Amino acid sequence: MSMSRLAHLTALCIAATVASSSDARAEGRAALGACWSAAELAGKAGEKATHRETYDPTVEPRTEAEPLAPVAPALRGSIRSVKLPPGEKLVALTFDLCENAWEVSGYDAPIIDTLRKAGVNATFFASGKWLMDHKERAQQLMADPLFEVGAHSWTHRNFRLLPPGEMRRDLALNLSADSQLRRTLSGRSCYRPGTGPVDASRPLVFRFPFGTCNTEALDAVNDAGLLAIQWDIPTGDPAPAQSADAIAKSAATAKPGAIIVMHANGRGHHTAEALPRMIEEFRKRGFGFATVSELIAKGEPVIKDSCYELKPGDNLKYDKLFPAANNSAPPPAPKPAPAATGWGAGVRNAPAASHPAAPITADKP
Ligand SMILES: [Zn+2]
Repeated sequence: MSMSRLAHLTALCIAATVASSSDARAEGRAALGACWSAAELAGKAGEKATHRETYDPTVEPRTEAEPLAPVAPALRGSIRSVKLPPGEKLVALTFDLCENAWEVSGYDAPIIDTLRKAGVNATFFASGKWLMDHKERAQQLMADPLFEVGAHSWTHRNFRLLPPGEMRRDLALNLSADSQLRRTLSGRSCYRPGTGPVDASRPLVFRFPFGTCNTEALDAVNDAGLLAIQWDIPTGDPAPAQSADAIAKSAATAKPGAIIVMHANGRGHHTAEALPRMIEEFRKRGFGFATVSELIAKGEPVIKDSCYELKPGDNLKYDKLFPAANNSAPPPAPKPAPAATGWGAGVRNAPAASHPAAPITADKP
């Protein structure tokens, strides 16, 4: 193991070990309760729905994030899962909080409520614009010692097609939004930093919108100091036809060290319904739950030089569905229909360009 890799992993391990003591977590949980009442943390009616909205540049954060050291060579690339030591049975539940320029997407409160009630660690990958449009919810997630909040671009553009300059600007906006909220959060007197499973002062991990990348995109993300996290278990939850049963069954195929992708922005249509049985099933089989950074700190990440769903090249079709460098309008309904398990499945139900006024809701696309 190279020294630089060791240094990076040591930083992750220290964060995971120091902060995961039950005392620290209990303190963090108490602090969360001091910042927000149970009623404020709980879900509210209508929060899951996504609304069409014209992009307003004033939503862009004004502050600049501190630059981060580039990712060490041995951790660069697309991380799909983690090889854990024998007997270590952990999986990482991950939830994307995607938000396009042309919308304000939702907050799927029952998912978060279930995770909190069951004491389950999870990672959220939040688009910067989602953070700015859901400032209070975002800070609740950042403050919760159960959770890790990672980055997911500014407005969910396809990084495989973005010119390098736009990629850097997009990442900078994403990190600035994240930094702005973490600074606000650390200024709250009730907040106790350092009680979570990982260093909560900055995002450590990034997920590509649509899970699409190329070499330049991987470099841009790694150079920005973020580990590029893919998955090895797609649940297909953006497809409205993907039942709770099917989502839970997909997750149940996970082996120790798996990274499972779902959505908590309203586009995980039956995810909240699937989650309790998914958690129960994993626990019955002796599994525990870790954030992505904790998982990586505990084993050897499985890293590839391209991003894909299940097989190399299987998401190249998304470039036709999401070709716009500037996604200021929803994509038209694609033809032919994309695979049922992937990203395109959810987009199939996005409003057609001819119906721009139609509200986008989770249940009535
Ligand atoms: Zn996304």
